[in-house]
Amino acid sequence: MINKDQFYTFMKAIPKAEIHLHSEGVISKDTVFKLLQKAHPENTCDLTCVDGYFNFSNLSEFVEMFLAIQKAFINPSDFDILFEDMRNYLIDNGIVYSEVFISPTSFIRNGLDFEKIIERVIKSIRKIKKNDHITIKLIIDMSRTFGAENAMNNLNIALELKSRYSEIIGVGLGGDEAKGPASKFVSVFEKARSEGLKVVAHAGESIGPESVWDTISLLKVDRIGHGISSVFDKNLIQTLITKKIPLEVCPTSNIFTKHYFSALENHPIREFFDSGVAITLNTDDPTFFGIGLIDEYYNLYTKLHFSMDEIKQIVLNSFKYSFLPAKQKEIMMKSVEDAWSAHSGLLQ
Ligand SMILES: [Zn+2]
Repeated sequence: MINKDQFYTFMKAIPKAEIHLHSEGVISKDTVFKLLQKAHPENTCDLTCVDGYFNFSNLSEFVEMFLAIQKAFINPSDFDILFEDMRNYLIDNGIVYSEVFISPTSFIRNGLDFEKIIERVIKSIRKIKKNDHITIKLIIDMSRTFGAENAMNNLNIALELKSRYSEIIGVGLGGDEAKGPASKFVSVFEKARSEGLKVVAHAGESIGPESVWDTISLLKVDRIGHGISSVFDKNLIQTLITKKIPLEVCPTSNIFTKHYFSALENHPIREFFDSGVAITLNTDDPTFFGIGLIDEYYNLYTKLHFSMDEIKQIVLNSFKYSFLPAKQKEIMMKSVEDAWSAHSGLLQ
């Protein structure tokens, strides 16, 4: 058994990808404090009160907190500081490639100009690429919560921005699964696919396997966010394997929201992996759940009995099932193999 320090030192040295990560989810408490002070100078929210924002016990409290934090962004330039947090998070976890969700709806409703936000974000992303050699691509969230018309508006924004910025590679469907069933978004997804965007959707996070089935058959997604309730339907597991549809699994997030599983030891990622489902490992919202990507790997190792070879397989999967072009995938996967061999002495 490798000790915790050895594990973290080794895993930090391995190039990794994270492909299910919400931009707001990397925000530091310090940034929340600064943004709140700027947005509400009359408010006397100190750092202890900021801690209260991170204190939630179910999915609806979490969504409330998420919306409150989004409201603290009052200027496109506020995203510069958010992407400094993003940079720190990626560096701390040895992540060299990430596909990051950014959600226009709340910001637009709060009166911000989303194009200006993206302009700032792209500037930050290109600076990170140049200085730190970390690649970030963006997936625009169309949102299940606010209906089909809002989703179509967000898609049109994504298409317009994609024509200007190569960093925009796809669209996603996050938000409330119960309020926004897949059937509402068929034409939005058809249009997105026909325009060459990659398409993903959160499903099977808070409702049953039927939501995952709909996401596959109606929306024809490239990947599924979470998908954990698939474990209750053997035919669905078989379909995920046959159709090679990867799951973006975020174990700690699922335990926090307690929809299906309340302990990591019972999380179905082990069963998915053993059955042959294409698994990737992600954090969803690292700051809110108090974790980083290396912590998620450590949990697999200590709580779900993944061997180091199996962990390597999942690290490779996160590149393999990313939206990188084939050639770049190959290069990144080789760099994982090389780093694994070069640092194997750390595991002795
Ligand atoms: Zn998510």
